[in-house]
Amino acid sequence: MIVVFRPGSEESQIQDVIERLNRYGFDVHRSSGVNQTVLGAIGVKPEFDPRNIRVMEGVAEVYRVTEPYKFASRSWKKENTVIDVGGVSIGGEEVAAIAGPCSVEDERQIHDTAAHVAACGATFLRAGAFKPRTSPYSFQGLGEQGLQWLRAAADEQGLKTISEVMEIGQIDLVARYADILQIGARNMQNFPLLKEVGKLRKPVLLKRGPSAMIDEWLMSAEYVLSEGNAQVMLCERGIRTFETYTRNTLDLSAVPVIKKRSHLPILVDPSHGTGIRGKVIPMARAAVAAGADGLMIEVHPDPDRAKSDGPQSLYFEQFTDLMAQIRLIAQAIGRVVRDAPAAA
Ligand code: PEP
Ligand code: MN
Repeated sequence: MIVVFRPGSEESQIQDVIERLNRYGFDVHRSSGVNQTVLGAIGVKPEFDPRNIRVMEGVAEVYRVTEPYKFASRSWKKENTVIDVGGVSIGGEEVAAIAGPCSVEDERQIHDTAAHVAACGATFLRAGAFKPRTSPYSFQGLGEQGLQWLRAAADEQGLKTISEVMEIGQIDLVARYADILQIGARNMQNFPLLKEVGKLRKPVLLKRGPSAMIDEWLMSAEYVLSEGNAQVMLCERGIRTFETYTRNTLDLSAVPVIKKRSHLPILVDPSHGTGIRGKVIPMARAAVAAGADGLMIEVHPDPDRAKSDGPQSLYFEQFTDLMAQIRLIAQAIGRVVRDAPAAA
């Protein structure tokens, strides 16, 4: 941490700050010029709040130079984390394709979607059975029946599953049917839920909160990691900005930022990120080009009749096209998107 004093600050003020820093356990190195003093405080103290020093007399500015998170940081673990989900890895050379409807609606819908996305080379089937809806009058999901249909449809096609868990009481149930537990954007800072999934030894996909800064998102990942669950992947899904042409603003610059700051896999969800079907494919292509470790795409057999997020769900043919396109983009940057399996 660097502490910069105002020009002409008094020696007693500088001494007070040095004393306070020592009390917190920092080693302090002083550098004084004719008119100004700067202190370097050495010590890794993720719990320390720099405002304790910023409010002291004579202090002009305080800069943190180490991250407030540890296990999520690239400085703690240099190599990329690769998460093995029952034989399918996320975070390695392969760009994972996770696809499926917003919600499980009926057996036929999830079955047909599974068959289509598997035939295009996707490896994960997504669908919510517990839905965090803005309105209490909107479709809330089918609960356990939805999870059963999701699992059965995925198993038939050899796919892995991912589904959202909204509260602690749902963890055991969702974990029975899903290979990856999804923590939704609205729950990114539900700390009791994060701690609880941290006690599992099961992959967790942590979506970015709509107004979360990247450091806050990584601190949320830290909650899961610090409980002992190392299998955390992140998912950028758009943030709230002043722009209204899209539902959210998909922050693709988060991909290289996360890659630099963290070793965790980073995926991108352009469906929630844009909220408009016509914007999903271009942003998915861009996400792969930016280095995303995977895509999460909403696909529906009949989007115009979907019970949730129809306007942002791709038609089957669109998903087929998207997979062919990202295969080429991945190849150009030394990654791979799995080939469509040969037709039986
Ligand atoms: C979802 O993926 O089903 C979802 C609700 O997304 P988000 O939490 O990003 O809104
Ligand atoms: Mn959705």
